[in-house]
Amino acid sequence: MAQFNSYMDIALSEASDAAVRGEVPVGAVVVSKGQVIAQAGNRTRELRDPTAHAEMLAIRAACIALGQERLTGCDLYVTLEPCPMCAAAISNGRIARLYYGASDPKSGGIAQGAKVFTHAQCHHVPEVYDGIGEEACSALLTDFFAGLRKPLSGSTNLQIRKAKPEDATAIAACFDRAYSVYATRINDLPEVAIGIEDDIANNAVWVAVDCGVIVGGLVLVLHPAHATLANIAIDPSASGRGLGKALIDRAEDACRKLKLPCIRLSTHIKMLENVSLYEHLGWHVTDRKGNKVLMEKAILTDETNK
Ligand code: ZN
Repeated sequence: MAQFNSYMDIALSEASDAAVRGEVPVGAVVVSKGQVIAQAGNRTRELRDPTAHAEMLAIRAACIALGQERLTGCDLYVTLEPCPMCAAAISNGRIARLYYGASDPKSGGIAQGAKVFTHAQCHHVPEVYDGIGEEACSALLTDFFAGLRKPLSGSTNLQIRKAKPEDATAIAACFDRAYSVYATRINDLPEVAIGIEDDIANNAVWVAVDCGVIVGGLVLVLHPAHATLANIAIDPSASGRGLGKALIDRAEDACRKLKLPCIRLSTHIKMLENVSLYEHLGWHVTDRKGNKVLMEKAILTDETNK
């Protein structure tokens, strides 16, 4: 049992890393003759790939590592019951034993739903062991989804902090999710998730982090006499919790410290809800250019407050 747990611990740590990247926390490990051949966490958002489940990535990496298209004799450890797609890949890959943690009533394809291994068309059926480290595996998922729902007020896990270089992928994914809401009705949106690495290196970037997951970000570009709010986005799952205001407050604090008298921004002309939101936060419209509405907010320095 100790051995099962140590491989499942590796899968669990892959799952936690996935949560930090803003992905649904699932992790997988392929083991051959007691050796870890490949390990992976879910990266569907980062890779913009619905097939990038932890199991698929671990199976691909293991095949590459072994230089073959079958994983005969290998074991797969995964924190969550595999979905039908992954179950088919496990069968096609000839994996000998499948160990999984939490059962997945919503999308599982082993013990429920499609029950892929029970069909006559499934030519290879692995030995299946469920409930391995189940408590830890389910706790990770429960915490992750609870974290996404947790309100800002009273949340002890929420933090606004400066972005680090390693946050770039999670910030880009968060921006993508935030802007995908608009993409259906605005066809000339700028690419918002590009250049985040450069922004972190050269500009001021803050992130809102809840239970270890990046749920918002703000990019501020500093000029000699003003600052530009170049980008701000809140993950739709975290909207309505005051995160936008919390990030803007942090940017305004930075301007105050640097004695910059105003912050400017431009928003898309079709994002009228943004214009009224910013007006509510003390901004006013200074101009309209093409598809852009330009807005500005004066920063009250300590001197002007006195
Ligand atoms: Zn899957």
